[in-house]
Amino acid sequence: MISIVTPVYNEEEILPEFHKRLTAVLNGAGEPYEIILVNDGSRDDSLKLMKELNAGDPHVKVVGLSRNFGHQTAITAGLAYAAGDLIAIMDSDLQDPPEVLPAFFNKAREGFDVIYAIRKKRKEGVFKKAAYSIFYRLLKKMANIDIPLDSGDFCIMSRRALDILNSMPERNRFLRGLRGWIGLRQTGLEYDRDRRFAGEVKYTFSKLVKLAFDGFISFSYVPLRLASFFGLMISAMSFLGILIIFYLSFFTSTTTSVPGWASVLVTILFLGGVQLVSIGIIGEYIGRIYDEVKQRPLYVVQDALGFDAKNEGRAVSR
Ligand code: UDP
Ligand code: MG
Repeated sequence: MISIVTPVYNEEEILPEFHKRLTAVLNGAGEPYEIILVNDGSRDDSLKLMKELNAGDPHVKVVGLSRNFGHQTAITAGLAYAAGDLIAIMDSDLQDPPEVLPAFFNKAREGFDVIYAIRKKRKEGVFKKAAYSIFYRLLKKMANIDIPLDSGDFCIMSRRALDILNSMPERNRFLRGLRGWIGLRQTGLEYDRDRRFAGEVKYTFSKLVKLAFDGFISFSYVPLRLASFFGLMISAMSFLGILIIFYLSFFTSTTTSVPGWASVLVTILFLGGVQLVSIGIIGEYIGRIYDEVKQRPLYVVQDALGFDAKNEGRAVSR
């Protein structure tokens, strides 16, 4: 069976079209399938629409979260319910076109465990494109695992890969990183990322920044090492300074080589800045350690529609 997992946050304009296009593709695939729509605390009529879709089509199943938990967590919740042996993660805004799925299924039949989609072209603003591009390249340099360039959450996974992903309990989830962490047989397929079908972008700037931080901090120690690096650099430079001042005051007639207080103030401010940034970086890691220690569930499920009794037990996460 094929499971499609899709997070939905205020997508009432898109859901019927999404269902129509996806159903056409899945019917052509000739395999049983389920479409798991995860309502991530939508404020519009999305949930109502999802329930209607479920009433009209037994393939559609609904997981309703109790509030907005965020894209990555919504996907995580949907994945816990997925019963298929091939699982696809795709957004509901039709930026990930359902029509490319058959090529992915074929690749999966060749024995790959993860087939991630690589965006060939992005139809987005210049600033966003540049920011994404820099982010992925920086992450690749810094991460201690192999995270493929320009691939988002859109992917197909085998049951084996999904079981491993589902067993990872971490709270601040950067799914495309966790997916890379699994290893097994992975490959990428290129596709053209479409424009959003309708509606506003639901990923706010602050949500994107949080996602980027989760990526860096979950998969790299480089930010922590930056503090040591700066410390070493500044210590080395200061030591050189000490030697120079020592020489000037004992072996020449100059008493002070650099006049004025501005240089002193600038040095102190610079050091203060470096120290605060370092504390901030450590704080990011500690905050995430705190999240893990609290052991709260990742999400709360309010409604689950269309699942058989076997799957109901997954209603509350870990
Ligand atoms: N989404 C979600 N929770 C959120 C924000 C977004 O479930 O808090 C869903 C949204 O409905 C969409 C997908 O995540 O299906 C991607 O969001 P969006 O298209 O706004 O982001 P972008 O494609 O620009 O990354
Ligand atoms: Mg989108």
